[in-house]
Amino acid sequence: MKPMAPTADLAPLPTERLINELQSYGVRLAEPKAGADSRRGGAGPSDHKAMTIDGMTVMVPVHTAPAFDSPYLVEKPDAFGRSVIRRDGLALGEVSFPLQPKFYGLTTADGIPYSKIAVLHGRDVLATTVLQSCIRYQSRTKTCQFCAIGQSLAAGRTIERKTPAQLAEVAKAAVELDGVKHMVMTTGTPPGRDRGAALLAESAAAVKAAVDLPIQVQCEPPDDDAWFGRLRTAGADALGMHLEAVTEPVRHRIMPGKAQVSVERYFEAFAAAVPVFGRGQVSTYILAGLGDSREDILATCERLVGLGVYPFVVPFVPISGTPLESHPTPTPAFMHAILGPLSGMLVASGLKAIDAKAGCAKCGACSALSTYERRACS
Ligand code: SF4
Repeated sequence: MKPMAPTADLAPLPTERLINELQSYGVRLAEPKAGADSRRGGAGPSDHKAMTIDGMTVMVPVHTAPAFDSPYLVEKPDAFGRSVIRRDGLALGEVSFPLQPKFYGLTTADGIPYSKIAVLHGRDVLATTVLQSCIRYQSRTKTCQFCAIGQSLAAGRTIERKTPAQLAEVAKAAVELDGVKHMVMTTGTPPGRDRGAALLAESAAAVKAAVDLPIQVQCEPPDDDAWFGRLRTAGADALGMHLEAVTEPVRHRIMPGKAQVSVERYFEAFAAAVPVFGRGQVSTYILAGLGDSREDILATCERLVGLGVYPFVVPFVPISGTPLESHPTPTPAFMHAILGPLSGMLVASGLKAIDAKAGCAKCGACSALSTYERRACS
């Protein structure tokens, strides 16, 4: 963002605070088609659009209920793709939108559009859900209540199983045509005790054989810690195992199926994975705003940092069509009270987003955390 002159009523916010506000409130778009397509449904956070603000590309909610009432409005872009962002009518500065990637225009030899196999996240991340179904998604009593993994499949925007050959073909094109810098491979949890690690290993190996692209794989902790070595050998550079919520009561309420895997099992798995992938190359996604207190989140982050695990704390975004679609987003003040001390902790311990080789920690677009880190370093 290029800040404009301060107004009488609204002094410009530092970039990290503005990103925090935008991710909590969402924005209204005067031109919904600006930039690359927004994400709707799918695994993990969704209903966002990528925007670049002061050199940081972040995902901002645009299709959620809070976004429709947001005080922030992004105007129609000019001929150079730049838009003015306003709050309550007052101009705050400029944002721009990453363009639709060129690889979206291609189709595999077997007739599948590349965009159904992998999509662009943020500015330079290729993201795919290798298996777009989950043992936990079919049952109301087991499903993670924030998750929309089945929505994009039902809408025909993706295919259920992406083969290693398809992933390799799309990754190569995304690097060559669009300069993609790293790749995130997540998966719904299949039946079986490896929790998807075998699928991820064969997918990572195929991509690495086709193109030199750092890869983060994401899954639940597998039954056997030997999977970490197998994933690393297959070509995974980084690993995400996502707690989502950090206390057992919140985990059991929000994700009753996944909570069968205890927080302590996650910590055992983190301790086993860090020596394989390295400090700062294992991360976890924590959704703030689901009921965990600031103190609980920061205490868990301290424990994670002590192990060398990067805690990627993001504001919860309610996705339309999920059981939590009416759940409120965390306030900017709540996020600020977490991200401020957390960024200090990360900088002091040398676990920074910019040092991650691949994945959500490196991308950082779903949270203002890396912008807070940048501020803590300056
Ligand atoms: S932080 Fe992760 S989920 Fe969010 S846009 Fe980046 S790669 Fe995608």
